[in-house]
Amino acid sequence: MRKLDTKTIVVASHNAGKIREIQDLIGPLGFTAKSAADLNFIEPDETGTTFEENATIKALASAHASGLPALSDDSGLVIDALGGDPGVYTANWAETADGTRDFAMAMQKVETALEKAGAMSPESRSARFVSVLCLAWPDGHTELFRGEVEGTVVWPPRGTQGFGYDPVFQPQGYETTFGEMSAEQKHGWKPGEPQALSHRARAFKTFVETCLEA
Ligand code: IMP
Repeated sequence: MRKLDTKTIVVASHNAGKIREIQDLIGPLGFTAKSAADLNFIEPDETGTTFEENATIKALASAHASGLPALSDDSGLVIDALGGDPGVYTANWAETADGTRDFAMAMQKVETALEKAGAMSPESRSARFVSVLCLAWPDGHTELFRGEVEGTVVWPPRGTQGFGYDPVFQPQGYETTFGEMSAEQKHGWKPGEPQALSHRARAFKTFVETCLEA
């Protein structure tokens, strides 16, 4: 496992919600991090069929473009009653004809698919958010970290915080959706703490433990 020996990295993302969450997580550790969006890097095509492959494509693109280590996130919502959909295609389900993203529409698509599948009880709506972080160096070396959080897809959407599908995801053991949680509650983690809540914070905790700590 290669250690990270610089505090200047690139956040290999063009997704404002993810960039904000990754900046929140790395900020307390003393990192200076610009995003691929800030640096006007071209967004690479996500041609992989796994979270790991797509995270690697994004991190390597930013590491090569910047000459700095780059941290990417590939994530999605995996719903059991839909055979794992939308999974790696979670962002695609939000794409509109004019190329923008509409998450109210995407959440409605998920709901329609669940209703079609006859999944109306909370038990039949089990799902997990998955985040795979990839740290890539300009020489092509990569390290991967995976985090998952179990929960239920709820309807109607609740809350206006967070991003993407947060208003329809209620993590196991909680009465509130991610959309009803502050960023601190959703991460559920600060450096040195033993637990994290969100998929991204769980993956990030593993990254810190393996690549930053001695
Ligand atoms: P990608 O990783 O760029 O392929 O996009 C993943 C998609 O999953 C995002 O566009 C979000 O809509 C969704 N997603 C990933 N993580 C979260 C999260 O923490 N909350 C809500 N939606 C998420």
